[in-house]
Amino acid sequence: MKLEAKAIRYLTRDDWRTLVATEMGMKNHEFVPTNMICTIANLKFGGGKKAIRNIHKFKLLYHENKKYDGYKLTYLGYDYLALKAFVSRDTVSFVGTQIGVGKESDIYLVANDNNEEMVLKLHRLGRVSFKTIKNNRDYLKHRKNASWLYLSRLAALKEFAYMKALYENGFPVPTPIDVNRHCIVMSRVKGYPLLQVVELRHPSKVYADLMNLIVKLANYGLIHGDFNEFNILINDEEQVTLIDFPQMVSTSHANAEYYFDRDVNCIRTFFEKRYGFIGEKYPKFSDYKQAQFDLDKVIGASGFTKDLQKDMDLLIKDQDGDEELNNNNNSDSDDNSDDDDDDDEDNEEENQDEQSSTTEENNSNPFQQDEEESEEE
Ligand code: ADP
Ligand code: MG
Repeated sequence: MKLEAKAIRYLTRDDWRTLVATEMGMKNHEFVPTNMICTIANLKFGGGKKAIRNIHKFKLLYHENKKYDGYKLTYLGYDYLALKAFVSRDTVSFVGTQIGVGKESDIYLVANDNNEEMVLKLHRLGRVSFKTIKNNRDYLKHRKNASWLYLSRLAALKEFAYMKALYENGFPVPTPIDVNRHCIVMSRVKGYPLLQVVELRHPSKVYADLMNLIVKLANYGLIHGDFNEFNILINDEEQVTLIDFPQMVSTSHANAEYYFDRDVNCIRTFFEKRYGFIGEKYPKFSDYKQAQFDLDKVIGASGFTKDLQKDMDLLIKDQDGDEELNNNNNSDSDDNSDDDDDDDEDNEEENQDEQSSTTEENNSNPFQQDEEESEEE
């Protein structure tokens, strides 16, 4: 969806009040009746109607008039509310071009008054409509009315909380800058998704850095959950940055081993297919189950609580209809864990000459192997 931000300038104070009033009304109405919007906005009926007409014209509201008369926010309306918040606290002054469209997000370049470029990520988690809110109806109660709003907001909150905790602990992630509703603002990473990189000068080094990153996450009690060539950005110096955190799980999650192995294998498969590099050394979940630090606690304290995670899980489950692996835990993991090369500690002391990049543990990189030996397979 295109974020046409121009109209932001044309909205009056009453228009904004009306937009916020609609958002509030959606907490317990799927469609908010006109008079309720006017009451919440505290505008006279005439003034309220005029504002509704205006913001409806800009496609910030959707009008339902078949069953009964009422309005709900469109994604654009929700985008505007978030943008307005960023603008009013000087995080963002300009919206530039779109640089990414995911299934569940839109990514834009933005800038502040100092012309510093940043990235705005708008979460779109309920884009696929909620067909069945069958289970969990009681638990979620009215939150299902606006489940796309709520779920997208949860995703942004979660992503921001994780990015912040990772950033503060020295992980190679974008700098988190601000969050509001379903949107986050972060620093722009200079680099390309690994997917677009046809050739690497040092595949063995990059591979080892990525495996170390997976291990470092596990040492902090975390699994990325979507660790693949789309979510790894790499710059000209072949340093990696990890992005995209709404699906992160704890190493104490019931399916942790499945997610851990899947992350490891995504990279191994990609390196083999793309670079002809066979990653013979790779981490096993059993070696890292016991986290050394518990970032999950930090994240809970930062506002993304276990209860919110529960809401998110339930909503996603309802959205998908059925979940990939709800019934049993480690069903898929055994086909990946049958290998035997556990001799991780030997023979890697030689070529650590270039300056290190992503992980602190570079001097004893247990996953690095000789490039010649593995590239020519
Ligand atoms: P999605 O959840 O839709 O996969 P991502 O967070 O992975 O969204 O971002 C989608 C794409 O946008 C990335 O593959 C990358 O090309 C670009 N992107 C996202 N964040 C940044 C950033 N901080 N700096 C530069 N590019 C980014
Ligand atoms: Mg992604």
